[in-house]
Amino acid sequence: MINYNKALEIIKHEIEKLTLHIEEVDIYESFNRILAEDVIADVDLPPFDNSAVDGYAIKYSDRKEWKIIGEISAGNFSAFNLTENDAVMITTGSKLPANADTVIPVEDVEVKGDLLKLQPNAFIKKGMNIRTQGNDLRKNEIAVHRFTKIDAKTIAVLASCGKDKVKVFSKLKAAILATGDELIPINEKPEGDKLRLSNIYSLYAAIKEMNHTVINLGFTKDDKEIITQKVKAALEMDINLFITTGGVSVGRYDFLKEVFEEQGVKEKFWKVNIKPGKPIYFGVYEKDDKRILVFGLPGNPVSSLVNFYVFIKPAIDFIFKQNKIESINATLQNDLKKKDGKRHFSRGILFEEDGEWKVTSEFSQSSGNIVEMSRANCLIEIVEDRVNPKRGEKVKCILI
Ligand code: AMP
Ligand code: MG
Repeated sequence: MINYNKALEIIKHEIEKLTLHIEEVDIYESFNRILAEDVIADVDLPPFDNSAVDGYAIKYSDRKEWKIIGEISAGNFSAFNLTENDAVMITTGSKLPANADTVIPVEDVEVKGDLLKLQPNAFIKKGMNIRTQGNDLRKNEIAVHRFTKIDAKTIAVLASCGKDKVKVFSKLKAAILATGDELIPINEKPEGDKLRLSNIYSLYAAIKEMNHTVINLGFTKDDKEIITQKVKAALEMDINLFITTGGVSVGRYDFLKEVFEEQGVKEKFWKVNIKPGKPIYFGVYEKDDKRILVFGLPGNPVSSLVNFYVFIKPAIDFIFKQNKIESINATLQNDLKKKDGKRHFSRGILFEEDGEWKVTSEFSQSSGNIVEMSRANCLIEIVEDRVNPKRGEKVKCILI
């Protein structure tokens, strides 16, 4: 059985071969998408020298008094040619008049009629309170780099560069399918040995959270014929990822792996030395220029979601170069039981106390307990050769 790092490396190697498509969208639609072009500034930013405060623009000298000769407000420029005697009232963001090189904040002056006086305790420094043209960025330089995830900060830069249309990477398309004779729709009340379908919903949300497209194939019985039809249909679709849950272990009715093989999916690995989520299957389906990554996740709702967080999400982040570290080192608040050589991803609750990150994981850790998972905010990653981490030790917590 392969280890976690090797498995993730295999997935990254395969996902890297996907062709990423590019589309042009309206700037408002670009939010939360990944930029597919370097956006170049078509003007200096800021485009002109301007005042950083509300105050009075002057030509610097050692004077303490000036004559106010007019005013400029933002967007309403008037030309003045200042001498050392003159001051122009100016508002924040207004273009500076010719010769002005310094702005005195309004708080530091007294005004009587058209006479401006520096407050006795105030001082002036040449060049103060001026935002010079191009000091944020020069024209023709890269304002936003390709592969930037567009958020509120970056969209402001796109807007300042006049990008009303933005080239972004097309969303990946993922089809999801659940299997299990025990599953019933959620609008029915479970009786006997039946169980409401939950993991289609978690996968749907996890993919949407990453802003990709989901094709929901619903759920099916553990019937090899029906599963074959569903898998066949999925592999004919225009998708990049096919994610199934359930039926991938070694039980008598676990048909997925067999069906994948019969339908031409090439297995890359089956089972990884982790807990939970060990039975994960990964294969690749290729036909002509089509390429689908196939993930057979176990049915346990916790296992399938942990698999998504530790394999599928990092792999998608990898191709879109979203290599931000979403983990925190925290102090364990309780002993953790781990005797085996697997990599564990235990559910934890991370919190800050007295300026320190702490994590607790005092609950059953059963891979069937979806409520516990829903209350967790991190996965505590314990690597293969670490045993029984104790209260007080530092552990890596992956934010979920
Ligand atoms: P399996 O991987 O098919 O052996 O399923 C493992 C466990 O997960 C069983 O206890 C199933 O009842 C449960 N399970 C399987 N699929 C789902 C699902 N879609 N939603 C919730 N629980 C499921
Ligand atoms: Mg099953």
